[in-house]
Amino acid sequence: MYPSEFEYFAPRTVAEAVRLLDQYGDAAKILAGGQSLIPMMKLRIATPQCLIDVNRIEGLGGLRREGDRLVIGALCRHVEMASSPLVAELPILADAAALTADVQVRNRGTVAGSVAHADPAGDWPAALMALETAVTIAGPAGSRVVPLNDFIVDAYTTGLAGNEMLTELSVRIPAAPRGGAYAKFERRAGDFASASVGVQIEVDGDRCRTAAISLGALGSTPIRARAAEQRVLDAASAVDALGDAERLVREAAEPFADTRGSVEYKRHLAGVLFRRAFMAALERARGRRVATLHP
Ligand SMILES: Cc1cc2nc3c(=O)[nH]c(=O)nc-3n(C[C@H](O)[C@H](O)[C@H](O)COP(=O)(O)OP(=O)(O)OC[C@H]3O[C@@H](n4cnc5c(N)ncnc54)[C@H](O)[C@@H]3O)c2cc1C
Repeated sequence: MYPSEFEYFAPRTVAEAVRLLDQYGDAAKILAGGQSLIPMMKLRIATPQCLIDVNRIEGLGGLRREGDRLVIGALCRHVEMASSPLVAELPILADAAALTADVQVRNRGTVAGSVAHADPAGDWPAALMALETAVTIAGPAGSRVVPLNDFIVDAYTTGLAGNEMLTELSVRIPAAPRGGAYAKFERRAGDFASASVGVQIEVDGDRCRTAAISLGALGSTPIRARAAEQRVLDAASAVDALGDAERLVREAAEPFADTRGSVEYKRHLAGVLFRRAFMAALERARGRRVATLHP
């Protein structure tokens, strides 16, 4: 199908984009990579009267290091996350990039677009939830910063007002020795997740000093498995706690039954993916190379 008619704007600055958003309100949509919005427009699930294409705004793309944080510009594409040396310290993000969609989608789609879209099965919201991620939002009154946890409110619903746009994401790089991994199960290559798990740890010998476990496609938003994190943190040897932690991960999952599987099946996947991601994160924290966990 063809999209319904719309007006098209290509502002050159964030201020201009925000002015247009303020003028058109809910009738307007930001166009970034178009890899979620355009298919929805073609299916007439989305019928915006006005598209604000932010691709010509200078300074909105790329990755940069600021102190102990990695800053991801709103136009940073999935492909940049897979290959940038700046992401080497955060292999959980390189994993998520490599496991998102296919080459064509990765070349156009943006990390920020995925976060703004808040698909419950989106890889970026799930992977970034295992890190301390902050979202910078620009609106008519200026800029504000909110934690990712508060930004994603429900399935396809965020804390963005109609006249606001996301300008960057910023992620704290955990202290060394650290390890992270993102594991995903998909029915076929390039598909959305049936379930996914992100793990990020800071270690001291066999013990974890910090632990974050995030679940994707296992609820209406990404979920932090807090009880499992605590179980891992309490153990003198994290590996000894994996059986208990795996059970707590399964209990934390809130999956829906759909064409990708039953509730029981997805809970089972959550446990298996947690174990894989945790062991890969631990190996990486010990300085060993572990390739992305392709399903
Ligand atoms: C065949 C196919 C397979 C896919 N597989 C996967 C997959 O396996 N895993 C996965 O996670 N995703 C997958 N996707 C989705 C893809 O990753 C998208 O790129 C991503 O979800 C949205 O990013 P985008 O830049 O394309 O956003 P767009 O499509 O341009 O926009 C998406 C939504 O976010 C809003 N938006 C975008 N940028 C901003 C901003 N800066 N501020 C405010 N609002 C904004 C738009 O208005 C729109 O509502 C797939 C897509 C396709 C077509």
